[in-house]
Amino acid sequence: MEAHSSEIQLTLEALAIMTAIPVVIFALWADYFGRYLENLVDQKEEIERAAKIGQIRMAGFLVAIFQIGLFLGSSEVRRNHPVFANLIFISAILTQGWIQARLERKIDPIPTGERGPQLKSALRGLGWIALGALFYAGVFVFSIKCFTWFAGWIQADKTVSAALVVVGAIVGIIGGLALNFALGPIHLKMALPVLPLPEEFVQRFREAFARAGLRQPSLWLIESGRVATGTAFIAGTKWGSGPLRPALFISRNALETLTPGELDAVVLHEASHLCMNHLVKRLLLSIALITGTMFLGIFVLLLAPLFLPSGLGFQSLLGPFVAVMAFVSAFRVLAVQSREHEVAADLYAVEGLGASYEDLSNALRKLDRLNGFAPDRNGVTHPATETRLALLKAALLIRSDEFRQKLSAEQADPDKTDKAA
Ligand SMILES: [Zn+2]
Repeated sequence: MEAHSSEIQLTLEALAIMTAIPVVIFALWADYFGRYLENLVDQKEEIERAAKIGQIRMAGFLVAIFQIGLFLGSSEVRRNHPVFANLIFISAILTQGWIQARLERKIDPIPTGERGPQLKSALRGLGWIALGALFYAGVFVFSIKCFTWFAGWIQADKTVSAALVVVGAIVGIIGGLALNFALGPIHLKMALPVLPLPEEFVQRFREAFARAGLRQPSLWLIESGRVATGTAFIAGTKWGSGPLRPALFISRNALETLTPGELDAVVLHEASHLCMNHLVKRLLLSIALITGTMFLGIFVLLLAPLFLPSGLGFQSLLGPFVAVMAFVSAFRVLAVQSREHEVAADLYAVEGLGASYEDLSNALRKLDRLNGFAPDRNGVTHPATETRLALLKAALLIRSDEFRQKLSAEQADPDKTDKAA
């Protein structure tokens, strides 16, 4: 009995150490990064604020993914010690959040008077995101429970039961993902600080969607926070209607900075994503990746006893490790797809929907400036603007006689080009 309880204590301690490792690494990195930022401020160098905040959030996100992998891989400890094990995770996440908030404040100090409303809006967003995650987890658990119940009902043997649980997990992940995609327009409306698009822009945006032959999405303005962000994006699918109809979001900064022609180009780019079913393709690729990595992961875990020494704890670490690796590689593949979609949507907007190449180029460059991105900076989901534009120009030169003629006319009369730009 005594041996048993000390064994459980050991695993709890191991869990505490494991959850602490990424937090400590994050804290060390935050310290280093914070000093680097202070240095930039001291030398009066311009900080790409949005980009730096993006970097901090990406680092925080990776640490959180590691914790989620650990959380999923530690079900046994959590079952034996639900209170302590869950407390360990909650404190790890809270500590990480506190470190992250402190670091972000170095880039973007909040004036004291604004802290209240700022915090309220951040908490509201966080609440809706957490609710989405909870909903997702609920679908996942429900699916596994259904399949486990089914295995019991048909009195399946151990192997068949295990296989059914795996199928249940896959169905749960896919079901949750599909629901998340379908509910995306509603969820984003709740999670973001949005207002209906001002009336004077509605007609213009509607015309762009009509030109693309699409039904009208709901149109929303994102109130810009302290960090100026130039962004526009669309959620939903072209088949969605009623509460599930697609929703277009645009930040106030973007709306106020872009000219009418540039706004048209941006909206036509977003409409192109709908026309080309990009969100559906992303969902399908996600499903394929989840199913694929899950089977690969199970295969590795089944083979593990053959090549890993037992007794050193390697095998128990393998589960979380495989989960994190599967997630990171799936994320990378999805990022490549997303960058391809951006280029494809640019081309479709200009070639298929008649957006102006100049307006689109100007708009993308202006949005980069608003976001504090260098034009040659490669994003995770978006290629660098200059790369994107070079690809677009090359494709148009090959495919469009009109574009070639226009370009050669401009080159013959450089004076005119300057005025046009
Ligand atoms: Zn896009």
